[in-house]
Amino acid sequence: MKNTKQSQNDLKQIIDTIQNGICVINKKYKITNCNKTFQKNVNLSMEEIINQPCAKIIPLYNKGILKEHCARTVCNKECGTAKVFSTGEAIEYVEVDVDEKNSKHYHKINVFPAKNEKNETYQVVMIIRNITMRARINMEHQKLSEFNEKILNSAPISIVALDNGGKVISANKLARELMDKPKNQIIGRRLIDTPEIKKNHGLRELYLNLLEEGELFSYENLQYTATPKGEKKYLNIIAVPLFDKNKKVSGAISMAINNTEAIVAKTNLEDMNRNLEKIVLERTKELDQINKKLQEMIELKSKFIADASHELRTPLTVIQGNLDLAISEAKNRNEDIPEAFDLITSEIMRMTRVLSDLTMLTNTDAGTEKLQKTEINIGKLIKACGQSLMILAEQKRISLIYRPGIKNIKIFADEDKIEKLLLNILRNAIKYSGEKGKIKIWSESKENFAIIHIQDNGIGIPKEDQPFIFERFYRVDKARSRAEGGTGLGLSICRWIAEAHGGHIEVASELGKGSTFSVYLPIR
Ligand code: ADP
Repeated sequence: MKNTKQSQNDLKQIIDTIQNGICVINKKYKITNCNKTFQKNVNLSMEEIINQPCAKIIPLYNKGILKEHCARTVCNKECGTAKVFSTGEAIEYVEVDVDEKNSKHYHKINVFPAKNEKNETYQVVMIIRNITMRARINMEHQKLSEFNEKILNSAPISIVALDNGGKVISANKLARELMDKPKNQIIGRRLIDTPEIKKNHGLRELYLNLLEEGELFSYENLQYTATPKGEKKYLNIIAVPLFDKNKKVSGAISMAINNTEAIVAKTNLEDMNRNLEKIVLERTKELDQINKKLQEMIELKSKFIADASHELRTPLTVIQGNLDLAISEAKNRNEDIPEAFDLITSEIMRMTRVLSDLTMLTNTDAGTEKLQKTEINIGKLIKACGQSLMILAEQKRISLIYRPGIKNIKIFADEDKIEKLLLNILRNAIKYSGEKGKIKIWSESKENFAIIHIQDNGIGIPKEDQPFIFERFYRVDKARSRAEGGTGLGLSICRWIAEAHGGHIEVASELGKGSTFSVYLPIR
């Protein structure tokens, strides 16, 4: 067994090994004892310390790191030591000092009372602990935490961290706003105990699975009633587990994105759509009725034109017959045939043409004009058309020139209609060309189309009129067209014929120089 002295020595050795400065101060504010760390820090020998006033020694501690503290307080005995002597209660405080390099040092000072049997404090023990390192780490840690919190709070999603029991250990600003509760009511609460999750079994299961099995999940459009206004919100949730070193679930992060705006917009859009559908339905009904009426009117118009054509054609035939008779009688009697007879004949021909054009256009409107397709040879048809207009051309000494390009391209089309189309364009070329004009005709095949070009060197068509010449009754120069027996219907019929075959017509023209009409017809 060790004797008391040895025990005391052992204790002193132990105290000496402690890295904190320890000193004992008596009621006269003199140091009666200290450990090695204290001695080293004040840089004096034991003899120079013992029995010296603490106000003289403590300011030397750690190159004067507590100098200010002691100089300020001990001399008037209002320092911590004096307080412990007067109250008999231990105190603890932290001293911050700045060294010559302007860096801060933190010392934690504990002063304990040592009491006699009468419970009087007869001396105090001062422990000076250098906590600079820890304080700096704490500060760094705090800065980092503040920085993390700033990042989390500025995130546009709500983020909640859970421990492995599902309790909220941290919630960012948005999460707090979403839950509409102060921080202290959120922290420590089990997330699955919030009413919206509690009553949603599926979601509850997902959270439990996340915390027990570490299975992450996403959940769309959780309906959430935000208090106190009771407005509905929709959240998209993504939750991921957190694992410890042993790969055990140590918690989870649950993130929620407020999807309310998108849902509200979608609902509004759906409402709008429904309204729109209703309006469209009503309008369609109205349009159907209008269409029906229009159809009836078109049919009426067609019937009227058909009837009128028929009614007009009969007297025209009668007039033509009587005229022919009058001419042959005059011829028989060797009498001069009156000039008016020629005029009447040409007017009858013009009216007959107008009637036939009108009938055809009415039929196209009514959809009763049908194509009778057979295989036709474009080259041959062009020549036949030229032949039938030869007399008309010769009257104006116009030459029809078939370019070598003319090909025997075969197409599948309505021969009568294509013939009508070519005759119309050729007749126009003759009509709108001067004496001794030249009309060139050629054809080619390009990308599954047979193209027929009819070019004259006549009066041409002004640029501003070109887009309209295929419209019904459109005539550039009414007087001239009428003088030439025109009706303004020819080109609109040509366009219908080309388009009914799946083709089209193009025109290139220069005023005073002539025009080229190109008819595109599909080969197959
Ligand atoms: P129209 O019976 O008046 O000739 P069209 O529909 O055949 O009617 O032609 C419409 C208008 O296009 C004509 O009035 C005429 O002004 C113009 N036009 C057609 N072909 C030619 C052409 N080859 N040269 C000049 N103008 C033309």
